[in-house]
Amino acid sequence: MGRAFVYVILGGGVAAGYAAHEFVKRGVPHGELCIISEESVAPYERPALSKGYLLPEDPARLPSFHCCIGSNEEKLTPKYYKEHGIELILNTQVKSADVRRNTLQTATGETISYKILIVATGARPLKLEEFGVSGSDAANVCYLRDMADAERLVNVMQSSSGGNAIVIGGGYIGMECAASLAINKLNVTMVFPEAHCMARLFTPKIASYYEEFYKSRGVKFIKGTMLTSFDFNTDGKVTAVNLRDGSKLPADMVVIGIGIRPNTSLFEGQLTLEKGGIKVNGRMQSSNGSIYAVGDVAAFPVKIFGEIRRLEHVDCARKSARHAVAAIMEPEKTGEFDYLPFFYSRVFTLSWQFYGDNIGDVFHFGDFSGKTFGAYWIHNGHLVGSFLEGGTKEQYEAIAQATRLKPAIEDVTELERQGLGFALSM
Ligand code: FAD
Repeated sequence: MGRAFVYVILGGGVAAGYAAHEFVKRGVPHGELCIISEESVAPYERPALSKGYLLPEDPARLPSFHCCIGSNEEKLTPKYYKEHGIELILNTQVKSADVRRNTLQTATGETISYKILIVATGARPLKLEEFGVSGSDAANVCYLRDMADAERLVNVMQSSSGGNAIVIGGGYIGMECAASLAINKLNVTMVFPEAHCMARLFTPKIASYYEEFYKSRGVKFIKGTMLTSFDFNTDGKVTAVNLRDGSKLPADMVVIGIGIRPNTSLFEGQLTLEKGGIKVNGRMQSSNGSIYAVGDVAAFPVKIFGEIRRLEHVDCARKSARHAVAAIMEPEKTGEFDYLPFFYSRVFTLSWQFYGDNIGDVFHFGDFSGKTFGAYWIHNGHLVGSFLEGGTKEQYEAIAQATRLKPAIEDVTELERQGLGFALSM
């Protein structure tokens, strides 16, 4: 049993949605493209799962956040794929790939062949078991990556109403889930080993602002320690978490956000891997000329840094997907992907954006007791990164533009004095 397509997108997440949209814009003939996804729904904007999806009132539900709603483009509902002759092969896990034969084998035994393959398999959450702690299967322990996880999280949250929620991990997922749990009136405690939240990006000063804000909403922080084990009741539900510092926290539910691992296993030993992902060139093309990789799974040359990086952010998934399709459909007109890294988050009433790289010396600006503040990162005498909380559209555009220009900074005192005005004047 088998089917053949000219173009196959493997994975049905953010990058898949944007790739499909780009294929349609470039006139892909009906019947030539398929998307294979183990999820049960058409590609959607994954960031909604830790934000609007978890709200107690008027929560976001599909079809409201199908791709490409996050970038104000049309909404790609299942009808869209049908109308444009794109086959959506859902609930289908690909079990193996043979890059010499250009084929994929599904869990149901079907062989799907391609002329061009776009790998958009994203990443999976790291499990506690990978750190020597067991209990991930308990009914009230939640991870958050896909729609099924989000549905489960909502059910657990509702059945733990007014109880204690322990969030393990102080990164994106931990911070956004903690905010949502607090909005849902749970007593939230965040536990993480670092000295402050969002340790990979935030400076201590920036982190302190968010931690104080969270505390004002009732969230507690236990920092510098880790989860070592759970206590369970006779039903196998977690009743408490035990920490390395010897403390025990009663728990009605636990959310784990301790990082992700790219889904590369189908291609290990078949494609060149780097930085944990599939290594691609500036056209998002892997070591096999018929295979492209995009989104969280791709390690690509970030021109502005002059090195290969793998980025785990939605804007990168969107743009790398569009770029790969452009390179496939119009190779002679498509140059190297020139990407300025961009991350954002929204929690409670707060909202921040970051552009570039957080290396070198950092200079804060603005009013840290008010609503708008930020930071610049200076490396080798040049501005390489910018962060802004509470900005307007124009202000965010200004810091993005300033970071892209990488201006030389001769007088850092003057930069600090000008603050946001520096970016706005460029
Ligand atoms: P994904 O969107 O993860 O899609 C991968 C797809 O591949 C999935 O459908 C998966 O089921 C499928 N798949 C994998 N293996 C197989 C297989 N073998 N067979 C079939 N299908 C397979 N980024 C930000 O910049 N800002 C945010 O605020 C933000 N919030 C986030 C909130 C949450 C809850 C999560 C989970 C992520 C968030 N991100 C955010 C990150 C962002 O969503 C990811 O960077 C983005 O989804 C990556 O897109 P992708 O298409 O590469 O992978």
